[in-house]
Amino acid sequence: MHKDIPRATAKRLPIYHRYLRFLHNAGKKRISSTELSDAVKVDSATIRRDFSYFGALGKRGYGYDVDYLLDFFSKTLNQDRLTSVALVGVGHLGNALLNYNFRKNNNVRIGAGFDINPDIVGTIQSGVPVYHLDDLEEQIQQQAIEIVILTVPQASASEIVDRLVNSGIKGILNFTPLRYDVPKHVRVQNVDLTNELQTLIYFIDSNMDDGDDL
Ligand code: ATP
Repeated sequence: MHKDIPRATAKRLPIYHRYLRFLHNAGKKRISSTELSDAVKVDSATIRRDFSYFGALGKRGYGYDVDYLLDFFSKTLNQDRLTSVALVGVGHLGNALLNYNFRKNNNVRIGAGFDINPDIVGTIQSGVPVYHLDDLEEQIQQQAIEIVILTVPQASASEIVDRLVNSGIKGILNFTPLRYDVPKHVRVQNVDLTNELQTLIYFIDSNMDDGDDL
């Protein structure tokens, strides 16, 4: 990593990098700073300033050369320790998580979404490209994705978990109500919001009962 890059800039590099890879995969050759700004939700002045740390990468009236930038960022980010996280199932809950995207944390960010709904596949949601589920294995490999957040309907979940396990994922943050049998090298963390709420209600009710007994 270049020594003099401000921390705030360094934190945005993976976001630029992922979007550039998405453009590259879509066959796009160049992008203006305004387009880039709309897609990654970083204002264009900031983008220009960020890019200026790497020399004059953009040309006025032309925009940025996607392949050149992609190559440049791939090299620069070589030592990046950001944990690569993806989300499968960009519905209501999935969208909320993409939008939240662990902003206060420096080293985790959701970089890719997967879905089967043609209305959102190929779009950018909260700055995150959404791929078709068919591309799951390929993208996991290409983007070195280690962790997957699972927010699909439960009927589709176990088949997806099998695919995740087979593609070498290390961890799954499971928002579905199902519990999965996975090999030891995969860690599953279950988040059961209904259960959490019920537990809270249980404790509140039992405290109230204690009070009544006194
Ligand atoms: P949520 O449950 O998050 O509130 P929702 O009500 O919008 O979401 P769900 O039916 O739960 O919709 O589906 C969540 C998302 O998962 C949707 O965007 C849906 O297109 C997607 N989805 C459904 N089946 C699959 C699948 N097999 N692979 C990937 N995504 C899927």
